Amino acid sequence: MRSFEFATAGRIVFGRGTFAQLDGIAAGFGKRPLIVTGKRPVAGVAGARFSVVNEPTIAMIREGVDVFRDAACDSVISIGGGSAIDAGKAIAATAANAGDLLEYLEVIGKGHALENPPWPFIAVPTTAGTGSEVTRNAVLGSPEQGVKVSLRSPLMLPRVAIVDPNLTLGLPPAITAGTGLDALTQLIEPYVSSRANPFTDGLCLDGIRYASESLPRAYRDGSDREARTGMAYASMLGGLALANAGLGVVHGFAAPIGGMFDAPHGAVCAALLPAGMRANIVALREREPQNGALERYREIACILTKNPEATPEEGAEWVRNLTIQLAIPSLARYGIRGQDAAELAEKAGRSNSMKGNPIALTSAELTAVIESSL
Ligand SMILES: [Zn+2]
Repeated sequence: MRSFEFATAGRIVFGRGTFAQLDGIAAGFGKRPLIVTGKRPVAGVAGARFSVVNEPTIAMIREGVDVFRDAACDSVISIGGGSAIDAGKAIAATAANAGDLLEYLEVIGKGHALENPPWPFIAVPTTAGTGSEVTRNAVLGSPEQGVKVSLRSPLMLPRVAIVDPNLTLGLPPAITAGTGLDALTQLIEPYVSSRANPFTDGLCLDGIRYASESLPRAYRDGSDREARTGMAYASMLGGLALANAGLGVVHGFAAPIGGMFDAPHGAVCAALLPAGMRANIVALREREPQNGALERYREIACILTKNPEATPEEGAEWVRNLTIQLAIPSLARYGIRGQDAAELAEKAGRSNSMKGNPIALTSAELTAVIESSL
């Protein structure tokens, strides 16, 4: 068995109705929390407020740090989707350290390690997709440079993740679909990743089972509590897996697309997942038929199709049919065109996530992934 390391949030509180525990848990970390939310207001939690209407940018985090310091806050609680959680995570880390955020940002900043641990941070997801409540990075956009980069540190793992599936009951079908397929991507990619380990493998297989059964149901009937619970669980498992085993080609593209186009992360991953799986399977069959990832794609296909004889290709086809059933828009919806494929392929090839992909894809193969997702 290969050696591995596994790190996650200090404490996970999962289940319907667990949101009621937030006040009690938060009181143990500070007296003046900054509450970071998304578009939807959150009632009943006292503290200074900061709201994030879109995916967070560097400028937004600087603003949030100012609010935190002006109100003399001593902890951060994010209640929202991935954007609110990433923003809160980044504010808690930046506010505890001297100097500008750029000191600590990878790629476009200096990439220095955080000197001080972040202020205590509690994550409460209200969507089921990013798994950010149990990861150690915050994805931030720099619109001027047209890129998305991470603020990343093992110290940024949330102190507590409170995952209450009831908070996702009101999500509209389109958000359920995009975020849900992001969760499925974040379970499939770590399972076939070159950095997969025995611990994350178990989480991925369980999560793929939950997501494949719960996502179509949660999409059809948003008030299906059992399906919402299954998706909240699958999403969290995806976060645990990606933070410890890495990702692959779909997320390799998601970063440059998110930097260059105004497109929500979940919807982008959803549009790319079928072609990303197919490209990997074809390349593995052609060049590395002995690579264990091919057998892993077959196992995934068996779970998705519930057919023990399924081929890897049938798994990718099942995912394609799911994206049709869930009305996932193609990448063209966000203004991406065929002529962008080569540049996106080049950027994806150099991205952090691509390092986990089970096989090195050629630039022609990467370009084809974009073209068939338009
Ligand atoms: Zn994702």
